[in-house]
Amino acid sequence: MIPESTGQRGHRHQAGFLPSLLCGITLAGFLLLACAKDSPTGPSQNDPPALDRTIEIYPIFFIPTDQDPPDSGMESDLIAHLEIARERYEVLLKNRDTFQIRSGGALKYQAEHDLLFYRARMEGVAPENHIVAELLDHLGTDRHRCNYVLLVVVMNSVDQWPVGGGIPINAGLNTGGGYVELSSFLLDGDSVFQSTLQHELGHAFGLPHSDVYGFDMETHISLMSYNTDHWWTGFTPPEEPGVLAPEDLRALALNTLVFPDLIFDPVVDVPAGYALPASFIVLYPPISLPGQPDYRVTATSASGSSEGTVPENAVNRSIWAVNTFNDQTMWVSGDAGNSGWVSLTVEFPVVETLDWISIHSQHQGGTNPVEAVRVEVQLNGDFVELAGRDLSSSDDWVTFPARTSATWRFSFRPGSSGRVTIRGIQFYDGNVQLYPPLFPYSPSG
Ligand SMILES: [Zn+2]
Repeated sequence: MIPESTGQRGHRHQAGFLPSLLCGITLAGFLLLACAKDSPTGPSQNDPPALDRTIEIYPIFFIPTDQDPPDSGMESDLIAHLEIARERYEVLLKNRDTFQIRSGGALKYQAEHDLLFYRARMEGVAPENHIVAELLDHLGTDRHRCNYVLLVVVMNSVDQWPVGGGIPINAGLNTGGGYVELSSFLLDGDSVFQSTLQHELGHAFGLPHSDVYGFDMETHISLMSYNTDHWWTGFTPPEEPGVLAPEDLRALALNTLVFPDLIFDPVVDVPAGYALPASFIVLYPPISLPGQPDYRVTATSASGSSEGTVPENAVNRSIWAVNTFNDQTMWVSGDAGNSGWVSLTVEFPVVETLDWISIHSQHQGGTNPVEAVRVEVQLNGDFVELAGRDLSSSDDWVTFPARTSATWRFSFRPGSSGRVTIRGIQFYDGNVQLYPPLFPYSPSG
């Protein structure tokens, strides 16, 4: 829904794709998935903290040093547009849920640099997002803990940059905050701001464009298309505004951080005879922030690997169900040997605080179970044990005293096969999940 007259698409606008770890190339990937919850189920000795987080929309005027702040009319227009979009989502979600707007009006943020600075860097081939980085700093948060979709209107008296874009900060669905960028130029007057806002919010919630499912971008019913019939004029809706297609509804229901009350119901959400694809596509890659290393967890093992897998599969961002096997997303250890344990050393790109993890083990319904786990953290060069206990389920968790480090070691005691299969490990700091999967994990697949 970017105005076609500009002939441009937001740089953040490319439909994202599943990572190379799934399909071997960085283009398209498909993923089978059933509806799911964020937290694993199963018996536990220590209940983990509840994941009671909500993501709100935070309207922000981003004012480069050479630009004027918004006038009061512009501010009230932005809030009015946001309310309209919120009500529109509520209608399209059939009154089950809608997104929340942070109370208190729009933030007027005085930026550190002039317009050209941001423009030059963000139009680069591998842009680092200085706007997001500045705002996370200003809000005293980071990409893991940001509880907002940063709805950024860049003050720009010159032209319509940025043309409009939206993306989840950490890629995928249900991975935390998001980012939308629009220009003050577009907000002025009888523009298509409203339809663009609805579309870019969809991206920030994790929705890709309609064409990834084979629909025509010019004619599809979804607000995630570029169908010009959907364009608003100022506050006036078109005759046929964009809707949320079944593919969109299914994806939004997986974003429980934004839509906790939305449950996808095929009876209600899929028309009779509609061929809903079994797979879906998530936005990727994550936003890159200046001065920060890649948002990527690595892992190594002194115990080796088998079945064509690598240790890093244990910490990739795709966790498959226990009744499957995938050598691109699971780690099958080498033999435990005399110690009776296998170990996995995990490196975060920066120091992180953890106080619990969930562990997804076994494949194909019972192969290579983990009987016990030990958690160690590297502090001042030495590994210190924080917890150790038996596991009772293929989806289980371990809590331990909070510690902060980039390097952690997890040891697993296998059953009679002498090996373990780790389908994935999820890392938590209280109710915040760090480096979450690109789509919510479902024990049942
Ligand atoms: Zn788009």
